[in-house]
Amino acid sequence: MSDIFQQVDKELLLLQPSYPFTEVTAGFTTKHGGMSSGAFATFNLGLHVGDDRAVVVRNRQRLADLLQFPLERWICCEQIHGARIEKVKASQNGRGAADYSSAIAGTDGLYTDEAGVLIALCFADCVPLYFIAPKHGMIGLAHAGWKGTVKNIAGEMVRLWQEREHIPLADIYVAIGPSIGACCYVVDDRVIVHVDRVLQGEQPLPYRQVSPGQYALDLKALNQMLLMKAGIRKDHIYVSSYCTSCADHLFFSHRRDQGKTGRMMAFIGRKEEK
Ligand SMILES: [Zn+2]
Repeated sequence: MSDIFQQVDKELLLLQPSYPFTEVTAGFTTKHGGMSSGAFATFNLGLHVGDDRAVVVRNRQRLADLLQFPLERWICCEQIHGARIEKVKASQNGRGAADYSSAIAGTDGLYTDEAGVLIALCFADCVPLYFIAPKHGMIGLAHAGWKGTVKNIAGEMVRLWQEREHIPLADIYVAIGPSIGACCYVVDDRVIVHVDRVLQGEQPLPYRQVSPGQYALDLKALNQMLLMKAGIRKDHIYVSSYCTSCADHLFFSHRRDQGKTGRMMAFIGRKEEK
């Protein structure tokens, strides 16, 4: 299967190293190659899910070694299904890397224009959104479950880069990573009412009714629509076809595993020149 995310190791998928992703270390982990056991077997990278912290840190260390990006240079955020985004600097390196309590609080998206920072967020069905503006050395990552998606965290990153960083919309590229697909994600009216609100009549609808009051929702397509609504060119948006629930052999899935499961890590960073 050809995908913008390519499996390079049992532990790892990397974003294809072609433009605009040539200069970055960016990708998504699998559930294999770690030391966790039980529901977290084996490569759980989430510190907040009830797994043994020491084991999770060893798993994270394993990923740091694979990427050759030291754990001391990772920055993680709390991830509360909101739409708050923070700009980070290398001086904050290590926040949330080895303990959840030091993660950037109340935040679901991070971005930076500094090299030597690995932005690392945890996922198990939610949509990872990778942002890059190569001409401006800007990179970012956002966590968009259904709540973050309908709060339009995708559009919020675009707004910040445009308004605060003065980056032209035409210079921004986005990759939408492995996440639960419409094939496996049925929601009810309580979710759809928010989807309709954020879409403001935009077509085509990213969901279809499968039974009365039940809808198969395509969160990747919805994020793509919101990115285009924010002004990102369609040909600057890359969408992974991986479904975290279908690909049982590769990924943890919060929904498929009924809540008790591990977390994959999405990451993006630019290494310092040697
Ligand atoms: Zn699926």
